[in-house]
Amino acid sequence: MLLDKRNFYINGAWVAPAKPRDLEVINPATEEICAVISLGDKADTDAAVAAARAAFDPWSMTPKKERLDMIRALLEEYKRRNDDMAEAISMEMGAPIDMATSAQAGSGSWHIEGFIEAFEKMTLESRLANDELIVREPIGVCGLITPWNWPMNQVTLKAVPAMAVGCTVVLKPSEVAPLSSIVFTEMVHAVGFPAGVFNMVNGDGVGVGTQLSSHPDVDMLSFTGSTRAGALITKAAADTVKRVTLELGGKGANIVFADADDKAIERGVKQCFGNTGQSCNAPTRMLVERSIYDKAVKIAAEAAEKVRVGDPKEHGNHLGPVVSDVQFGKIQGLIQVGIDEGARLIAGGTGRPEGLDRGYFIRPTIFADVNNDMRIAREEVFGPVLTMIPFDSEEEAIRVANDTVYGLTNYIQTQDKEKAKRVARRLRSGMVRINGVDSAAAAPFGGYKQSGNGREGGIWGLEDFLEIKHVTQWKD
Ligand code: NAD
Repeated sequence: MLLDKRNFYINGAWVAPAKPRDLEVINPATEEICAVISLGDKADTDAAVAAARAAFDPWSMTPKKERLDMIRALLEEYKRRNDDMAEAISMEMGAPIDMATSAQAGSGSWHIEGFIEAFEKMTLESRLANDELIVREPIGVCGLITPWNWPMNQVTLKAVPAMAVGCTVVLKPSEVAPLSSIVFTEMVHAVGFPAGVFNMVNGDGVGVGTQLSSHPDVDMLSFTGSTRAGALITKAAADTVKRVTLELGGKGANIVFADADDKAIERGVKQCFGNTGQSCNAPTRMLVERSIYDKAVKIAAEAAEKVRVGDPKEHGNHLGPVVSDVQFGKIQGLIQVGIDEGARLIAGGTGRPEGLDRGYFIRPTIFADVNNDMRIAREEVFGPVLTMIPFDSEEEAIRVANDTVYGLTNYIQTQDKEKAKRVARRLRSGMVRINGVDSAAAAPFGGYKQSGNGREGGIWGLEDFLEIKHVTQWKD
């Protein structure tokens, strides 16, 4: 059944687009149209921004407890509709249903819980030593632009802290995966946030995306997506001097020292292939100490052979397709580039996995003997493609790991605690994960260098949406 999702959510109501312009949403597992949305026009963006502007004063002045209660109600509604959310995500971007239910949809409630806890503890007023007042106030109207790869992870990391601290928002989700944001909007509506606090306009980057970034009445733009779009947004936002926070791409290194635990290689392969390789923080460059390199290559190839690719509707821990025809073509092209550059293909390759002749399915692919100058080691492939690079010393591993324009997440595998600490401090990235330990709830997520400048989650994610005001003492 084709879903008609053309309407936008502006000022507390679903409204028809000003100038309808249809876009088909494609299910990547079937290559069939599953829904139709509309791409917004400037008139839609302006109406949404005006609604957010009008709602800002009253919403920003509500007591903190009232806003927290609304966010708590949103958490309940989100949990109640988790399965609807999982279905929407699975359909729009191909995540297998079990993973869509747990990790993808589940990341939303996980973040909402994290923000509730962090905001409960946060004090918005403090005093300097001389009794002068420091107040943290919401920055204003926020434009939120999100990608398709972890759609609800991204939307909740922005919309929830922004609304909690008293901002009003206009969300423009990815036009490739807009269905989950429509479910989220239904949740916001059901909870009864005041009209104008949350608005949602679908659109593309050149349209609604650019209109929000350059809009004189938008005070802040929070973006997650490619480094390419992040740079364009920053330029578009410059004339109005709005705050821009960016969560961009990555090309994480996973440094496997000779004393790593037995599961380190297989774990690294699985982490790289997770979400069909479509994670900004994926460990896509596995740097392996030379003395265990040959063994590691063999284990990695075996691990890749065990990875199953299949229908997202089936239960299980297999990989789904990548999101779109465009991504499928880009990944196929880069696998061919790896072969042409002379890297040694030890698993996968071009073409679809056996038995799958429809859908954007990719063969889980590993290249060994990669040199960090090759394109497959420098560019974000954004598919299940791992590169393996040998190293001879700790110093060389650090140098190669840092030899990238990105700086999001790096990984270390060693049983030597001092070495892990020492290397972690030398890596130029916002996050370092050691021996497969995942980040805790409400930890800061964000990057160095061209991976961005924001820190989402917990207290840091709330602070992104706040201004700091200094008020002098009263003098009689
Ligand atoms: P994308 O940059 O193509 O699109 C992301 C969003 O930006 C979409 O909503 C799109 O419509 C919009 N957009 C595109 N061009 C724009 C422009 N000129 N002005 C305003 N908006 C514009 O990215 P994508 O392909 O949807 O997502 C994949 C990328 O996101 C990868 O590079 C990945 O690493 C990155 N990502 C980063 C993080 C992080 O937290 N660092 C998390 C997830 C994804």
